[in-house]
Amino acid sequence: MRKSKTIKEFKNFKMTPEVFKHRKKVINVLYELKNMGYSLPRIDVRIGHSNECNTLAFAKLNQNIIWISERAIEQTENKFYHTVLHELIHTIYGCEHDEKCHIMSTYQPKVVYSKSKLLKIFKNYYNKYNNITTKQLEVAWNLIADKVII
Ligand SMILES: [Zn+2]
Repeated sequence: MRKSKTIKEFKNFKMTPEVFKHRKKVINVLYELKNMGYSLPRIDVRIGHSNECNTLAFAKLNQNIIWISERAIEQTENKFYHTVLHELIHTIYGCEHDEKCHIMSTYQPKVVYSKSKLLKIFKNYYNKYNNITTKQLEVAWNLIADKVII
């Protein structure tokens, strides 16, 4: 299935040095997580402008692609981190909103937790869903193998 790199709610910016720098800021969060031992897929990171003025970022469930607005890039460090983790949980694990969860609620809390507290929540999702994703991949692999044999 071809993955769409655009969504109507978001205007992707062209890669200028400044946009590249902003994209790097998001990718650094991914590297940080990988360095902590999390095994994460490759994530497509798009930087641009959200057409819905109150939306900080978008993600497609289970598609490993996220759209981060310039407004999110300019957030305070903890809020930016919160935004990126929120979108990663959508796009890697396919989780929807959970109003009882500090990270996965529809609206970003006015005061977000510290990075280490946010990471603890992320770790819960990781531990819960990482194995499920692996199982799905194994099923997909078996289907491909069957086709090849036939
Ligand atoms: Zn969301």
